[in-house]
Amino acid sequence: MNDPGSRAAELRELIEEANHRYYVLDDPNVDDIVYDDWMRELQSIEDEHRDLLTPESPTQRVGGRALEGFAEVVHREPMLSLANARGAEELADWHRRARDVIEAEGLGDREMRFAVEPKIDGLAISLTYEKGIFVQGATRGDGVVGEDVTQNLRTIKAIPTRLRTPPKQTPALVEVRGEVYLPLEAFAELNERRVADGLPTFANPRNSAAGSLRQLDPALAAERPLSIWCYSIGVSEGLQLATHTDSLEWMRAAGFRVNPEITTEQSIESAASAAARWEDRRGEVDYDIDGAVVKIDSLELQNRMGSVGRAPRWAVAYKFAPTTATTKLRDILVNVGRTGALVPFASLEPVQVGGVTVSMATLHNQEDIARKGLRIGDTVIVQRAGDVIPQVVGPVTQDRDGTEREFVMPIDCPSCGTELVQPEGEVQFRCPNGSCPAQALQHLFHFTQRSAMDIEGLGEKTLMKFSELGLVENVADIYDLHDKREELIELEGFKETSVSNLLAGIEASKRVPWPRVLFALGIRHVGEVTAEAIIDVLPSLDALIDADEEQIAAADGVGPTVAASIRDYLAVRANRELLERLRSAGVQVAVERPDGADDGPRPLAGCTVVLTGGLDGFTRDQAKRSVIAAGGKVTSSVSKKTSFVVAGRDPGSKMEKAEKLGVTVLDEAGLVDALEHGYAEPE
Ligand code: NAD
Repeated sequence: MNDPGSRAAELRELIEEANHRYYVLDDPNVDDIVYDDWMRELQSIEDEHRDLLTPESPTQRVGGRALEGFAEVVHREPMLSLANARGAEELADWHRRARDVIEAEGLGDREMRFAVEPKIDGLAISLTYEKGIFVQGATRGDGVVGEDVTQNLRTIKAIPTRLRTPPKQTPALVEVRGEVYLPLEAFAELNERRVADGLPTFANPRNSAAGSLRQLDPALAAERPLSIWCYSIGVSEGLQLATHTDSLEWMRAAGFRVNPEITTEQSIESAASAAARWEDRRGEVDYDIDGAVVKIDSLELQNRMGSVGRAPRWAVAYKFAPTTATTKLRDILVNVGRTGALVPFASLEPVQVGGVTVSMATLHNQEDIARKGLRIGDTVIVQRAGDVIPQVVGPVTQDRDGTEREFVMPIDCPSCGTELVQPEGEVQFRCPNGSCPAQALQHLFHFTQRSAMDIEGLGEKTLMKFSELGLVENVADIYDLHDKREELIELEGFKETSVSNLLAGIEASKRVPWPRVLFALGIRHVGEVTAEAIIDVLPSLDALIDADEEQIAAADGVGPTVAASIRDYLAVRANRELLERLRSAGVQVAVERPDGADDGPRPLAGCTVVLTGGLDGFTRDQAKRSVIAAGGKVTSSVSKKTSFVVAGRDPGSKMEKAEKLGVTVLDEAGLVDALEHGYAEPE
């Protein structure tokens, strides 16, 4: 066996590498359970051989370094991690240690209550409010220094920009801490979309939340429906709170999202049962939880107990066992996605995992299969991450008997037989045939789905049938179905009423507003938020057709990739014909302006405006819409082409840039005047 010194060194190296992948790259390469075992082993070596303990040891440090590109934020009070307890026995050990510390502090007579909270598997962040206004948001980072993600956090609607406390009770300073997470359904959708775009997928909801929040582009972060649960207060000035439960109540009243299911327990035994109950309930909530946190409720006790190493002494994470099962990997099959991406998936011998039968699991791409070392015929471990999405963790290699075989990606598209390509820098193989029937079908699914054209009665099964029968090949064909009424009624499973309902659903979709139609077209990189942003600057299909890449990229949060993707799409004759057919069918291809707005005065016609800082008379959105209604354009960055910058309260670096480039800066009154009377460029 290794001597403890070299084993500790080996473990530190493994953990450091895993930390980098997990915290910095949001792309872990080992399973959490393996990582946790390494940490426990290292911890126990250090406990036994105190001389081996160094301040740099991962057992003493929190998280990872800041990602380049974000400004650094030094936390006013360190953001720590949590010690772990696996099972009731370890929880009782933690409680004994906590009691000892309290007694040593001479506070043994104090009653101990506990808060029990779900442990959200997301990303810890801190939100600073000065005089009631949200001024800065940061990630935990290494616990001492985090990343400034204020702009991205502003896109999360559940985070108040202003406290809802009465002015007299508003603290001069308060730092609220919480966990940003991606709801499970959104996580699944995000990974599907990433597969379609040829991007690597996120291993779990935690990494996807971290990856989303640490986007350098707030518009991309805004595309992800992130949410937050707030669970504690860091530093504060002017707040009098006695217990953790009081802090939760204060946060709730101040407008923060606080989990309503947090309970206060009178004894460690009832806290243990409450934590264990969460283990049974983890599949019932729409966020991923990997444990329950047990906290001593009294803030006085918390302060006196302090912390050791990377974790406070007054709290502990009661970790759940992951839900896993073993089964046979019968085969690896391949699906063709909307953008032609080939997505392998596992066909499994059906197995019960955490109460649900699993027979399929996505494998994302060939790299994922190679990384996991899977072979067809293997016995594999299947896990339901967050109890919802089944994943194949890896093979049980000792069960191999030599009959297992490697998976080979097909050379040709399984749907149309076209030779596959692997674009440079992408992990995905693609079918390059734009008229591949499998892709066409996925396009139809995307177009008709609820968040797009929302066509009732035209679900995936019906579309598959219509496509097989040649009734619908592309999205414009949907609008010709009313001419085929008799033919439809003859189909198996259809009747007079169902056909009438279907045709009514198609008719109703003609009222879907243009931004959603643009999203429904399924142009690469054009999500719902991007479609809205584009329409703010280019309100109609015709405007979009006439615009060059630069004009498209003027939309908030739209970069050159998105702009190029739209131009490429519009450059294809078949796509233009499709759009014309949609237009003649009566589908919306422009935003409807409020009555008369079209003919109204356009005092800001030809002007490009940048907004920065807070305004009193308008929200940012209202200001933007007013400029657009007055015929102007709103862009997010200052350039020589900017006509003027409107600087409100606390303007950011955009104002400095304007001054540097000699661009006019107006205040709010100046904006109001320009909206009314127009703006003349200085000579
Ligand atoms: P942690 O996730 O075990 O616990 C601390 C964190 O819990 C806090 O920082 C906070 O973000 C979060 N939390 C959620 N709900 C909370 C609540 N109600 N109250 C307080 N805190 C709450 O610790 P960590 O340092 O973030 O990460 C360590 C864990 O991450 C490991 O146990 C491991 O599972 C995983 N990890 C995995 C790898 C890997 O390569 N697979 C690498 C590093 C870390």
